[in-house]
Amino acid sequence: MKKEEQESLDPQNWDEMRTLGYRMMDDAIDYLSSIRERPVWKETPDDIRVKFRENAPEGPQDAAEVYDEFKQDIMPYVMGNTHPRFWAWYMGNGTILGAMADFLTSVVTPNAGAGNHIGQFLEEQVISWMLEIVQYPKTGSGILVSGGSMANYVGITVARHVKAGYDVRAQGILEGGTQFTVYASTEVHSCNQKAVELLGIGAKYLRKIPTNEDYTIDIALLQEKITDDRKLGYVPLCIIGSAGTVNTGAVDDLEALSVISKKENMWFHVDGAIGAIAMLSPKVRPSLKGIELSDSVALDLHKWMHVPFEAGCVLVKSRSGHQDAFQLIPEYLQQNKKGLASGKDWFSNYGIQLSRRMRSLKVWMTLKEHGKAKLGRMISRNVDQANYLAEIVRSTSELELMASVGMDIVCFRYIDPSMDLDATNKLNQSILIQLHEKGWAVPSYTTLNGKYCIRVAIANHRSRLEDFAFLVEKVLEVGEELKSDK
Ligand SMILES: *Cc1c(COP(=O)(O)O)cnc(C)c1O
Repeated sequence: MKKEEQESLDPQNWDEMRTLGYRMMDDAIDYLSSIRERPVWKETPDDIRVKFRENAPEGPQDAAEVYDEFKQDIMPYVMGNTHPRFWAWYMGNGTILGAMADFLTSVVTPNAGAGNHIGQFLEEQVISWMLEIVQYPKTGSGILVSGGSMANYVGITVARHVKAGYDVRAQGILEGGTQFTVYASTEVHSCNQKAVELLGIGAKYLRKIPTNEDYTIDIALLQEKITDDRKLGYVPLCIIGSAGTVNTGAVDDLEALSVISKKENMWFHVDGAIGAIAMLSPKVRPSLKGIELSDSVALDLHKWMHVPFEAGCVLVKSRSGHQDAFQLIPEYLQQNKKGLASGKDWFSNYGIQLSRRMRSLKVWMTLKEHGKAKLGRMISRNVDQANYLAEIVRSTSELELMASVGMDIVCFRYIDPSMDLDATNKLNQSILIQLHEKGWAVPSYTTLNGKYCIRVAIANHRSRLEDFAFLVEKVLEVGEELKSDK
């Protein structure tokens, strides 16, 4: 046989690849087990950045060398969300078994969109576990997606399909001739607006209803707006409730939203990217009351469940509604009675993607390794830590708590009686940058009523109480220092 005929992308020497794989595993375990000793974040230096502007390589490079480049030029400058003092935006930390599951998924690299294979059954089981966790009936459906954005998009797509009153898939919005309206609070996550835009409804018809003082949607104003819109000839389609807003972790009154949606014959979708998985925590569960009354819910498993990115999930109570909104079977996707192309209910009938990664394995392994009780305990612990931090803030005269603690999110700022709003905002911005640049801690920020706040979102299974004491110590130290610089 000619040499080229035997060529493939497999290694020339499997044993060398095995050795490299062992080295990677050792490094990965060293990295995660010593994560606490490193800075949370480190800016990528210019001499490293330029390397990432080189042209695509024409020839081959030894795999071990490629790995060394990763170790030197990439690994030290990653985002930092595996660190115990990373509390920015809202993210999980991942786990080592989750990472291994990702690796194993790529080893077998099946397409979880179609076909009669174990990936289908694995995802069905994971979906059924999620239905159980949010207390949906087992007759519901769902699909794993990239994250909360896609989960909300799928949920709102089903809402549009089921509640349009005509075949919106066939006719489109224009021929249907109705202007739909969607409702959520002013605190709703921006991905929901993107969904409304992409569905052709138009951002201005996403009615952003003002909130109460605790940043939950004002129910009376919501009802009023729906009534007014109806009088004007609009067709109210869907209410989006937030189970944990991104700014402050506020949970809308989900029971009240359910009552309105039923009365108005509207779809009730819950953006539970932050809070829905907290149904695992006996401490948080009561505040999510009513989530089980929704028609669809978006969950983000790469947030508070710590599955490595990406892992989102959407659940829909009506399986047929979900399927009707997405199923489309051309000849090349016809299902056979037997063989690999058999089976029913391929996941491609429940979402936008055809080819899909088998995300179910890492979710399945994470739930098996830890069980629901421990995952719930990690969530409860973060809530306790948030309250602990809030308590320190309350008892420290240089600090001010800026909103009530929403689940695991604490917003506070450094204050000095001699400084006006503008100076206080600037000072807090500088404090945050110092925390990042020194690699001490990575909170993010938000602005509440014009006031710039340091925002600590504790979806972190590695954080300990001492980490919050350390944060406060550094904020006070930097605040004092910057103030006297002026
Ligand atoms: C993070 C988040 C989203 C978006 O989820 P992604 O996983 O980032 O796509 C949506 N809603 C809320 C409330 C979030 O916190």
